[in-house]
Amino acid sequence: MKDTKSFIINSPLDMHLHLRDVDMLKLVGPLTSNTFSGALIMPNLLPPITTKEALTAYKKRIQEACDDEKFKPHMTIFFQVDYSYEFLKEIKDEIIAVKLYPFGVTTNSETGVSSMDVEVLRPTLESMSKLGIPLCVHGETKGFVMDREKEFLPIYESLAINFPNLKIIMEHISSKESIELLEKYDNLYATITVHHMMLTLDDIAGGMLNPHAFCKPIVKRPDDRQALRELALNAHPKVMFGSDSAPHQKNTKECHHGAAGVFTSPIALQVLTQLFDEYGKLENLNAFVSLNAQKIYDIKPYEKEIKLIKEYFEVPKSYTYKNEEVVPLFAEDTLAWSIEK
Ligand SMILES: [Zn+2]
Repeated sequence: MKDTKSFIINSPLDMHLHLRDVDMLKLVGPLTSNTFSGALIMPNLLPPITTKEALTAYKKRIQEACDDEKFKPHMTIFFQVDYSYEFLKEIKDEIIAVKLYPFGVTTNSETGVSSMDVEVLRPTLESMSKLGIPLCVHGETKGFVMDREKEFLPIYESLAINFPNLKIIMEHISSKESIELLEKYDNLYATITVHHMMLTLDDIAGGMLNPHAFCKPIVKRPDDRQALRELALNAHPKVMFGSDSAPHQKNTKECHHGAAGVFTSPIALQVLTQLFDEYGKLENLNAFVSLNAQKIYDIKPYEKEIKLIKEYFEVPKSYTYKNEEVVPLFAEDTLAWSIEK
């Protein structure tokens, strides 16, 4: 077997990213824009992004923080049941998708949708179908933590059946049952994170507690992880990379009531390259981190060549800016691949 020493990723895209705001945005923004050509930005600020004014202003803050002309933030708005057709038509060119959070399932989702009844959602989803605006969904119920995604699958199914012309993206899928559903309907797509491909629940709670690996949906069993790996490693055309990198201030993770979210932006490409290399699947990496998303969302990213080299990368113990401090996944571990400076 040939020993690969370097690998080029063309125009990497992160199709699920939390950049937060203010100083945290200034800290984490460049850690994505340095190495990615574009990203789909989640709208769950406090308050969430629901108007054109808020969206435009947030995009401007992102562009200022990232300061890289070869980085495109693809904006989203926070799903509301009362968005009118006229509003969606007006904002269509400013957004790549609308993100739906069921009420209270993750960070800043307290203003999310309280009923997942298809008839309640119908007016907005029909407008989106007509206008060709995709729907991104955080698909979890409020059931037992290991079963939340599985319990949400009938809702995905009814959305897929009721809105056949709507592109529905099952965000951060974490279980093998979700993969079966993904295969069943043409209008379902999915993103997969680094952490769901690298970790199981044992890495959070099997030995010493690791709050920096705690996220929603929670990482699951070894067979779930293996099924997700296979989907990504084979660059299944309905699947794309979305890190769900979700920074939280260190002291809100390492505490009583620690926040859910894993910060992976500065390590994602190195970890993915390591994983795809280990399985001898590097030839599929560009499809998983860029080409599939280009087709699914019909976007053309800036050309950006990122060269990965097989040299050790010591993951920093944290990243800081002013009073913000964020601990990345695999802090102080050594990765087999690094990004050429
Ligand atoms: Zn997310």
